[in-house]
Amino acid sequence: MLFLYSNTYSNILPDLDNSKSILYKYHYIKQDSCCRIDIMTKIIATLIAFFLSLNTYTVAYQEHTTDKELEKNNYERDIFLEEDIRLEELKPAKAVSKTDSGLSNAWWSYPNDIEQATRSGDDLLVLVNKKYQLPSTYAPSDLISVCASVTNIRCVNSVEFLLRRILISDLQDLVNSAVADNIDLSVRSAYRSYNTQIGTYNHWLSVNGGNVAAADKISARAGHSQHQLGTTIDFSTSEIRDGLGGTFASTKASKWLAENAHKYGFAISYPQGYESITGYGYESWHYRYIGRENAQEMINSGMILELYLRSKN
Ligand SMILES: [Zn+2]
Repeated sequence: MLFLYSNTYSNILPDLDNSKSILYKYHYIKQDSCCRIDIMTKIIATLIAFFLSLNTYTVAYQEHTTDKELEKNNYERDIFLEEDIRLEELKPAKAVSKTDSGLSNAWWSYPNDIEQATRSGDDLLVLVNKKYQLPSTYAPSDLISVCASVTNIRCVNSVEFLLRRILISDLQDLVNSAVADNIDLSVRSAYRSYNTQIGTYNHWLSVNGGNVAAADKISARAGHSQHQLGTTIDFSTSEIRDGLGGTFASTKASKWLAENAHKYGFAISYPQGYESITGYGYESWHYRYIGRENAQEMINSGMILELYLRSKN
């Protein structure tokens, strides 16, 4: 039974606790009208429920959209950084190619007589470059998670980067020293297996439109990458939103590493101005661990890492 407020009639109805009476104006609606009203009420209730759910959906959709926008921003950021790498890394290549006439002995090219590395992959001083390659089967046996083992360094995108246990203590000391100097460091890449390096090289080959020379300037072919050693890190920093590429060179972290990394056994592999010796464009972010004593000996000798390792192999 349904009562509706009306100006037509007045009646006395009990209030809810039956202790008082209240004067109401109402009229009684007959049974058939009652059912129609009941249906209308259900429709109204359904409409209200619909609009409420619509609002929930809208909120959910907006959240979904925000996620998509974030993804898009991240994607665009990565594309931006990849563009950045290509543009900045290709500059010296073009400049040098004028003098090399683009011949097969161009600084970025591989020699015809590629040989196996003369030391074991486990040896901190093994020379790995465009001439000397690691066996496809080589992988370090003491790889551990970087960010599970070292504090105050961030692994970008929460990737579980791996490095050899042998360098973890010195890496922690490096990071502690950096933090003390208000330097933020993150890891963009570390160990890469032979098979992963195939994918990495092919990625750069692809983004350079299949241009082998362009890819060879910025990425090693499988077997020729220092990342296969498990002793090499690509650093980044919050100053460039943990990006990887030429912009790292201008960061505080880059300058700090250039001045201090050797104290903890790390050396930049591909310094600026030595492209014709290393075979790679300048990589301000790419550091290899060779141990503190070796790194100090290298600094004292005045040699870059490539020449220092050649003298040891
Ligand atoms: Zn690297």
